[in-house]
Order: sequence, then C-alpha cells, then structure tokens
Amino acid sequence: MIATYLSCAVCGVDDTEALYPALLSDGSESSFQRIVICRQCGLVYKNPVVPSENGLVYAPGSWPQTNIFRQRLEANADFIATRAHLATGDAILDVGPGPGFLMAALRERYPSSKIFGLEAVPEVAALAARQCRGAVVLPGSVDEASFPANRFKLMAVCGVDYLFADHRGALEKLSRWLANDGWLYIERNVFVDQQAYTAADITSLDTLFGSNPLMTTWFHRDQYREYLDCMFEVVESRRYDSDVTSSGRRNTLDGHLCRKRVAPIMRTPRSYYEENRAHVEALRARTPPRPQRTASPDAAQPSLHRVRAMILGRVKSAVKRALEP
Ligand SMILES: [Zn+2]
Repeated sequence: MIATYLSCAVCGVDDTEALYPALLSDGSESSFQRIVICRQCGLVYKNPVVPSENGLVYAPGSWPQTNIFRQRLEANADFIATRAHLATGDAILDVGPGPGFLMAALRERYPSSKIFGLEAVPEVAALAARQCRGAVVLPGSVDEASFPANRFKLMAVCGVDYLFADHRGALEKLSRWLANDGWLYIERNVFVDQQAYTAADITSLDTLFGSNPLMTTWFHRDQYREYLDCMFEVVESRRYDSDVTSSGRRNTLDGHLCRKRVAPIMRTPRSYYEENRAHVEALRARTPPRPQRTASPDAAQPSLHRVRAMILGRVKSAVKRALEP
C-alpha cells in the first residue's frame, strides 16, 4: 500500500494542526489520513496520503456534466493557443486528461504537434486515446510515469493537481519534463474559499473536504499563485466561473499560464494561516455534527455494504460505458 507522509508543499515545514477528519467515499472517516493546516503558511492539506484507502476510482463515466467540461476545456484551448506559439513537431503533454476533451481540442489548434496524455486510470486512459487518435497516452500518475527531461514545449494541467499525492514533488517532476523555453497552463477550482465544485454546492466542511475523497490540497487563491511562481514564472492569470449551481454558488477557477524557471526562486512564503483558518471555521459553524464513531463490528456492517454497493455500481457503469461505441 502506498502511504506518503508530507511536509508542507508551500513552506517545507512539518508543523500542522488537525482541522477535520479525511472522509472516505462512503462518508466515513479515514483511519489514517487527516486534514491539517500548516501553522507556518496556512496551507490546508491531507496528511498522510493513502490513496488506496479512499475507495474511489475514476471511471469512464466519471464526467456526467460533459457539456460543462467540454465548454471549459475548449475555452482553455483557445486561451492557450492564442498565447503559446509552437513549432512543427513540438510535443504537448496533457496531465490528467480524463476522457481526452482537452487533448482533442489542443490537437485541432496545434495540428503539427505531437500530443501526449498521462492518465492515472487505465480505462480512462484508453478512452482518451480513442478520443484523440494518434496521441500517445500513458496509463499512470505523475508519481508513476517518466518522460525524458525537457521533452514538452507545452504542458496542460487542468482540474487535476488537487489529486497530486505529493504536490511539490509532482510540480518538480513536471518542471523537469518541460522544455526550458516551454509553457505550462495549470488551473484548479479547489481552494479554501471555494463556493462550489462542478455542479456541487460547498456548504460544509464535509462538502469542502469530502466531495471527492481523492483531493489532497486546498490553497488560498493568492497563495497558490505565489507558490507556483517560485517554480514557474506566472506570466498571465485568469479567473472565471465555469458554472453556477442551482442555489447560485459559483464554481470559480483560477488558471495560470507560466514559463519554466530553470532555477527556482527561494523565498519565504507569506502566511495565509489567519485567512484560511477563518474560512474553515466559517464553514465549520455550518457543518452538522458528525456521528460518533463506534468500535462495534455490527455497527460497521452498513458502511461496508454501502462501500460494496458503490464499488459494484461504479464497475457496472465503467463496463457499460466502455462497451458503448
Ligand atoms: Zn506551510
């Protein structure tokens, strides 16, 4: 079992306090993982990270809001293509392409480039390969994959870096793969003050931390840009709402277009502890109390049944989707 204990990705210090339990996909509390806040800089993160405990695996049917994703990724491709100019044969890597919508959109805008995808779930990687014929798709996570140094002129990391088990380690690896004169476009919607994820309200700590049990990091928005800017030079940033939920909450994304820094900048990060803590406590005041945990094996049975039913449901859905033309 892979299990990673981390120091803070932003400031490098291991000085945290517990904020909340890490929730698994059936809503129960993880036995090992906790959501913590760094006392030095205020980064909120999961520590340790035990990916296989989370009981959730992406499958080809994991993107039910297809139109929202397609629209957002087409707009991303336009934003990138009007700024990052590539020569014939330059290589592009989409990290975490899911079903491959962005890969296909980038291929249209860069028809003479070689497109690569890196997708952690093999069934989803196969779907991306079908979506973008001619592309090279690797089934693996950033932790598991390797590419030659300086291989890519353009890398896109859209809506996926909140899943990185070791965020700083993953960014350092991506930086090695990026050409010295290369471009990185990275965006996320997982922040401490986020109002909604895609089509899902955030109204409590359960929804902030438990909507997707694979999430690992919650930054302050400014903290994220400043952190990125140490490893990559942020040359242009954009903030936009990808969708608004039925209760009016906005799914606000921050995207950053960056150039590689051959030598990362070393500077003391500003602390966002007070701001991040205040956002968490405001949500905590609206969070219903969690049921008391019990050690009784009988009481654990319904939870196990729910997990089993959920896994079976996901497998059936994945098989059904995979068989669709
Ligand atoms: Zn820190």
